[in-house]
Amino acid sequence: MSKYWSALAASIKPYVPGEQPKDKKYIKLNTNENPYPPSPSVIEAIRAAADDSLRLYPDPICSSLRQTIAKYFSLSDNQIFVGNGSDELLAFCFPAFFNPGVRPILFADITYSFYPVYCRLFGIPYETLPLDEDFRMPVEQFYKPNGGILIANPNAPTGRFLDLTAIESILQRNTHSVVIVDEAYIDFGGASAVGLVGKYDNLLVVQTLSKSRSLAGLRVGFALGHEDLIEGLRRVKDSINSYTLDRLALAGAQGALEDEAYFRQTTAKIIRTREETVKQLEALSFTVIPSTANFIFITHPAHAAETLFAKLRERGVLVRYFKLPRIDSWLRVSIGSDDEMAAFAEALRNISAI
Ligand SMILES: *Cc1c(COP(=O)(O)O)cnc(C)c1O
Repeated sequence: MSKYWSALAASIKPYVPGEQPKDKKYIKLNTNENPYPPSPSVIEAIRAAADDSLRLYPDPICSSLRQTIAKYFSLSDNQIFVGNGSDELLAFCFPAFFNPGVRPILFADITYSFYPVYCRLFGIPYETLPLDEDFRMPVEQFYKPNGGILIANPNAPTGRFLDLTAIESILQRNTHSVVIVDEAYIDFGGASAVGLVGKYDNLLVVQTLSKSRSLAGLRVGFALGHEDLIEGLRRVKDSINSYTLDRLALAGAQGALEDEAYFRQTTAKIIRTREETVKQLEALSFTVIPSTANFIFITHPAHAAETLFAKLRERGVLVRYFKLPRIDSWLRVSIGSDDEMAAFAEALRNISAI
């Protein structure tokens, strides 16, 4: 606390990202990073862009990358917005689409913990909708007046996917508010709502290159939606920073989207490893929530999650533990390579011979 902080800075509760420890080398299964390197096309594109042109500002409207994304999803350029990671893009959504002091925006009680952080920063009231015991969303809860809707799909940290029929009925019953579907993990087995963008002008689909394209370090996210929504985002962006994506990020992102074969190969590998890991954990009596993400949410009837978290950490394996109501007996485990997951399973077996 400092007397120099504004009332706002003093009142907010910033998001705490998963740790990136430097004390020793861990098997990192705590931040949903991709275990595989980015496509070689990414590195090549960044190398080619690292030249004298860095002297110049990058393209503020990211024309070339937006064209590539538009073509990839069979949309038009004016339906695409790109941001410095989808976190920044989600932050822009708050002043762009939600109003302070009127109706609350709605999201699940267990979901991406950045959402309430943005609400406090931007003074947007919110109401959380309880997931059921199995972390499913009873969708009728969205059928009431609101100031906007945010859905992580698949959800984090549970990994559960909400089917597109449910998404569509939410869109139909909320034509007065913007429905944001945060698809950070969509490429690991879910079905994207992007096909509904042409049909619903209140839908904004947000994706990222951080997870399925192995580019958490490059910071590139994008949104797909009606051109009026895109224009709203642009108005906010251009009131904060015209150049949110640098030249290297623009080039690297382009390289990633152009290597479809590599993307398919690595995501398929992660899905296979996930299914194999689930089998092993179930054999150790863990309960595993069905996941369409690059992580799984697990609990054990005889071992407290907090203890398992600490014991795994001692053995050099980092997973994510949230000391929060309703999920404090669960661990979120990112899917690493086959070798990393074998080491994780081995560590679990060693811990008091589960
Ligand atoms: C990882 C994640 C993001 C943010 O991704 P970046 O593009 O790296 O900022 C957004 N939403 C959810 C649900 C995530 O898990």
